[in-house]
Order: sequence, then structure tokens, then C-alpha cells
Amino acid sequence: MVFQAFTSLPRVTKLVWTTNAFYTISMAVITIIRGFLPAASAWVTKLVIDSVVAALPPRNAPVMDVVWLVLLQLAISVASSLLSTLSNIVQQLLQELVANRIRLMIMEKANTLDLAFFENPEFYDKLRQAQEQSAFRPVQMVSGTFDLIRTAITFLSMIFLLIGLAWWVAVVALIVPIPAFIADSRYGWMGYLRMRRQSPERRQMAYYETVMTTDTYNKEVKLYNLGNFFVDRFRKLATAVYEENKGILIKRYLTSFAWLTVSLAANAAIYLYVALQTVAGVVTLGGLTLYSQAAQQVSSSFQGLLSGISGTYENNLFVGTLFDFLEYEPKIISPEKTFPVVGNGNSRGLSLEFRNVSFTYPGKKVAALKNVSFKIEAGEAIALVGRNGAGKTTIVKLLNRLYDPDDGEILVGGRNIKDYDLTELRAQVGVIFQDYVTYFMSAQSNIGIGQLSQIENEELVRSAATKSGANEVIEKLPKKYDTMLGRWFNEGTQLSGGEWQKIALARAFMRDARILVLDEPTSSLDAQAEYDVFAKFRELTEGKTAIFISHRFSTVRLADRIFVIEDGELKEEGSHQELLALDGRYAQLFNLQADAYR
Ligand code: ADP
Repeated sequence: MVFQAFTSLPRVTKLVWTTNAFYTISMAVITIIRGFLPAASAWVTKLVIDSVVAALPPRNAPVMDVVWLVLLQLAISVASSLLSTLSNIVQQLLQELVANRIRLMIMEKANTLDLAFFENPEFYDKLRQAQEQSAFRPVQMVSGTFDLIRTAITFLSMIFLLIGLAWWVAVVALIVPIPAFIADSRYGWMGYLRMRRQSPERRQMAYYETVMTTDTYNKEVKLYNLGNFFVDRFRKLATAVYEENKGILIKRYLTSFAWLTVSLAANAAIYLYVALQTVAGVVTLGGLTLYSQAAQQVSSSFQGLLSGISGTYENNLFVGTLFDFLEYEPKIISPEKTFPVVGNGNSRGLSLEFRNVSFTYPGKKVAALKNVSFKIEAGEAIALVGRNGAGKTTIVKLLNRLYDPDDGEILVGGRNIKDYDLTELRAQVGVIFQDYVTYFMSAQSNIGIGQLSQIENEELVRSAATKSGANEVIEKLPKKYDTMLGRWFNEGTQLSGGEWQKIALARAFMRDARILVLDEPTSSLDAQAEYDVFAKFRELTEGKTAIFISHRFSTVRLADRIFVIEDGELKEEGSHQELLALDGRYAQLFNLQADAYR
């Protein structure tokens, strides 16, 4: 297990090296020289003392020897402090570069991963772990690795000096630390396991903290008097985690202490031996000084090695998690040979077809969609209705390949969507989900990102905003389109749910997509506003294929055809009138809502 600690070294080294080769080489050179300096210094001290003894009567050797040696000692000290300064500079620069690199690697990887990845708790935990630690772990990795190398050099060179004194002294100095070393690396491993085990608890704790300190939660927390409830839950978790840590922590340090005492005793014994040898005239006074310095250095560098190795061990595990994460491959990717999304029929819209599509979410038993088949012509406007959980959103997710169906095929423009380049497909299918994102950016950017290439195009952004009704909202803001939205950043302005929805809708209008999907993004608007938005949406998307999901029949009626989805199946389809005449599920739902208004 001890040697497993070092399996991360090649990876860490490679990571650091590829981040900045020049800094890495500089650090390596500095580290190696610094590793030898304590031994050099101890050796020169021995020479100084021996030369002082020699200068005393009766030998009366020249005093200049003492002067030169002290000057040499000074040179070594200055070199040592200069190198440590250089090492600080280079190391901190390198640390920042490595930390940024790792954070970028994680973000870039996350960018390629399937939605399924994020919705799987096990994968998600890995991502969180890699990401939470990426802020500080690389720093420790870099400094830890170099410290370890430096300490190892110091340790070995000191041992080498001890061999000059008596070979068995060196052997004892080498053997004594080993048990402590093993005990410590075991605790390093346990520490990691504990961290992993406690990870769900830690996440829960962080969640309660968020609930208690975030503006959007505060209202409900106050109204339902939930404050003490959440604080209490946090306290219970924190106490449990603390208790568990306490035991391990105390055991770890007491064990360390016990082993250290053993090595201290061994050192004292050797010291006594060397002192007696000096009295007997076998070892010089300089030799005794050398020994006492070396013994101290061996024990302190040994402790450095210990913490260095268990640190390296933990880094190894982090690097393991990181690389595990980086090795996940997305399943939903563009094919090698892609076809352009050309479509058929009119040029503004695209036809769309589901052929016997079935889909079950990973880890679920019940299928979200069962053998669904339908055809939508280019330019048609379709409404999906059905109760919550019926499978409407799933249809939308499959349509732009956030998930791939287990069975059946989905065709856009007459071709299986798996034949298209993913980016192009998604550019052609504009979707605004119910849980659309409120970006904490300027109003201009919030809308502009609907089509990145046009993000600076004020005219286009304004026109999209006008279509969705967001323009009226934005014109009232302090800095209009330059107003920062959301409360996170300085001078941010918070919007109401309905206002945010208009912004999100404008984003969809920015897009030059040929299939537009609105998945209940208007639920926060009042019925009249929703009707207006959809009516305008219909008018503006004339010729495009449009799908919308709504629970309001006033809106649903605007569709050319209506699909009734129930329990993952397409139960009825037809125009509003046809479905009413059918007197089935649709008529039932419609009458239910209409009754409420009678
Ligand atoms: P609708 O949009 O009609 O309200 P959905 O398509 O969102 O319904 O959901 C259909 C079914 O799939 C529901 O039973 C829901 O619980 C399940 N489901 C939706 N999203 C996920 C997911 N990410 N993981 C597992 N099950 C899901």
C-alpha cells in the first residue's frame, strides 16, 4: 500500500510537466540542490569545529582556516535562502497554473458528457469530488511532490554522513522510522476512505447551508418556520461526522507519537554511544557535532517524509478520482460520417418523426416512453398535453439527443438524428425548458447567448426581446440591456419568475432553429400573457416546426394538431375540434378545466 502512494508521481509529474516545462525543470533543479544543502552545511560545521580545535594550543593551526570555513558556511546559508525564495516564486506560479489547468480539464470534460452522466448520483459524486478538491489539491500535489523529493535527498545524504561515523548507526537510523511510516500511510488511506464515505453527508450539509443562506429559499424557510429544522439537521450531521473523525484523528496522532518516542529513544542511545566515542578520542569534536546535527536532520526529514508520503498518498487518490472522471466517455456523440441537416418540404421548418420509440431512464424500472410513433410535417405546430410525468419532456429530451432511445428511431428532416452532427442538430432544434436557466449576466448576454455568434448584435437581441415581451421588462431596468441580472454579482437586478421567462423565451427567438420547442416555459405567465406569447410565437414561427407543451387549453387550441400523452404512450391525436368530438381523454381534461371557469 505504501508504494501505491507513488503511483501518482508519474501522473502528477506529467501533469505538472505538460503544464509548464520550464517551471518544472527549474523547480526540479532547485529542489535537488536544496536537498543537499543541509548535509553540506552539517559537514562544514564539523570542519569549522575541528579547525577551531586544531587552532587551539598545543596544535596552534592557522586561524585563517577557521575564517575561510565560516565564510563557506555563510555562502551555503545565503545560497539556501536564495534557493528557497526562488522555489517559493516558481512553485506558486506553477501551482496556480496546474490548479487552473485541472479546473479547465474538469470543465471541458463536463462539457462533453451526456446529461445522463449528471443525473446519475454515482458519476455526479465523482465529478463533485474532483471539482471540490481541484481548488486546493493540485497546490498540495505540486508542493508536496517537490518537498518529498527534497526531503528524501536530505534524508539520504544525512544517512550517508552517518555511515562515515559508523555503518550500524546509519542502519539503525534507517530502520527505526519504518513502523511509524507504515502506521501513518495506513491512516492516510483511512482518511481518504472516510472522506469518501462521508461525502454524501458533506453534500447534504452543504445543501442545508445553501437552503439557509440563499435568497430564493429564504421566503419559504421563513413562512414555514423551517429555519430551526434545517439548522438542526445540519447540526446532527455535523456532530456525527465530527464524532467519526475524532476517533480516527486521535488514534492517528497517538500512534504517530508512540512510534516517534521509539525513534527518539533509539537516537538518544546512538547519541550516547557517539559521545562516549568522542571522550575516548575515536571521534573528533567536529564528528560529535556532525552527528548531533545529522541525527536531528534525519528525524525531522523523516517526519517530513512521513507527512509527504501520506500526503502523496491522498494526492494519488485524488488524481485517481480525477483521471477516472476524465476517462468517462460520452455515449452520445456525433457519428464519423455526418450528414448536413437539409430537411425536406419547406426550407423554414423540418419534419419530425418518432418510429416505435421506447425509452427508460437509467436506473428506472418503468419506461418513460413506450412504443411512441408519430409524424410531424415541416411547418406544423403541435401541442403536447398530458398530466405531469406522462413523458412529454422526455420526448423533447430525446429529440435533441440529450438521451438516445432504447428502441426505435427518431427522424428529423427524413433522416435518423444519429446521422447528424450533434452541434448542428441542436442548433436546429431550439428548446426552452420549464426549468430554463437564469444566467447571472447582462440582459443583453442573457438573450444573446441564444445564438452565440450574434451575442453582440443589439438589433437582433432587441428584436428577439420584443417578440417575447422581454423588451418592455428590460426598458424599465436601470441600465436597460446592460443591466446585470440576478443577485449574485454587483449591481445585479433580480427579476420575477414571469420576467425571467420572457428573457428565456427571447433566447429561443434569437435562435435560427427550424424546430422550436417550448416546454412549459410560460407557466409563470398569466393566462392572457401566455396566450399572447404563443399567438405571437405561432405568427413568428410561421413555416417553422413548433412543438409546445402547456397545461392551458386556451394555448393548446392554437396548435394545428394536439398529441395526448399518457403513461409514456401517445393516446390521442388530432385538432382541438376532432379531439373534442372524439370525446376521449382530451375532452375529459378540457371539460375539467372549462368547468372551473363556468
Ligand atoms: P412530463 O414532461 O410529461 O411531466 P417527463 O417526461 O418529465 O414527464 O417524465 C416522464 C417519466 O420519467 C416520469 O415518471 C419521471 O419521473 C421520469 N423521469 C423524468 N426525468 C427523469 C430522470 N432524469 N431520471 C429518471 N427518471 C426521470
